Amino acid sequence: MAAEPRCLTPIGVVHSPFRQKFGIPRQPRLAPVEAEIELFPPLDGPEAVRGLEGFSHLWVVFAFHAAGEGGPTVRPPRLGGRDRLGVLATRSTHRPNGLGLSAVTLKAVAPGRLILGGVDLLDGTPVLDVKPYLPWSDAIPDAAAGFAEAPPPARPVHFAPAAEAALAERTDGEDLRRRLAAVVALDPRPATGRTEGRVYRMAFADVDVAFTEEEEGFRVLSLEASLR
Ligand code: SAM
Repeated sequence: MAAEPRCLTPIGVVHSPFRQKFGIPRQPRLAPVEAEIELFPPLDGPEAVRGLEGFSHLWVVFAFHAAGEGGPTVRPPRLGGRDRLGVLATRSTHRPNGLGLSAVTLKAVAPGRLILGGVDLLDGTPVLDVKPYLPWSDAIPDAAAGFAEAPPPARPVHFAPAAEAALAERTDGEDLRRRLAAVVALDPRPATGRTEGRVYRMAFADVDVAFTEEEEGFRVLSLEASLR
């Protein structure tokens, strides 16, 4: 007889600068963006994370709480949104049970708090489990990667004078520039509906960002303080 399905309860929540799905890298460790996991009781004390500080990377098991269920096939953006593949052959957010899995950098550990690097996680993502990454077992350098053979290329990103001026006014301007450039360089645009000169808007950290494609890469047009 099949075992009763177990009800999953979040052990924590992600606090991330990605306030909307648009703009989030399509896999972890592609852009140097930090986030924090806030652990909930009873895992918010020192016992639950004892020994974790010795690990450089973590597996985060999470719920795609902002994605619908979907069916047996999906259209991966990597294939231009045209071809359909089986959902189990992809890392699509629309999947059975809505479970996500990301290998991220572990930057710091404190009771009730894990600081992560290289995240692909939306702000507010429910965390279901965390496990240390074991390179001698988990890393498989000669693995075949199907239709997703290579990482997405990073394209050049330039900042228009208005965006430069907004960065210059901030004490963290250089850090914001570095993180934003890395995110935009990965080309977050949906595969369909791309027209010349189209302006894309994205909420990142405390700013609303407008960018457009230009000849070789992208141009960040403006950064405006978000009205949250
Ligand atoms: N690495 C994970 C995996 O393989 O399960 C996620 C891959 S999925 C293709 C990455 C995308 O998930 C991001 O680009 C973002 O748009 C979306 N995403 C991240 N957190 C989410 C959440 N909590 N709910 C819905 N979508 C989310």
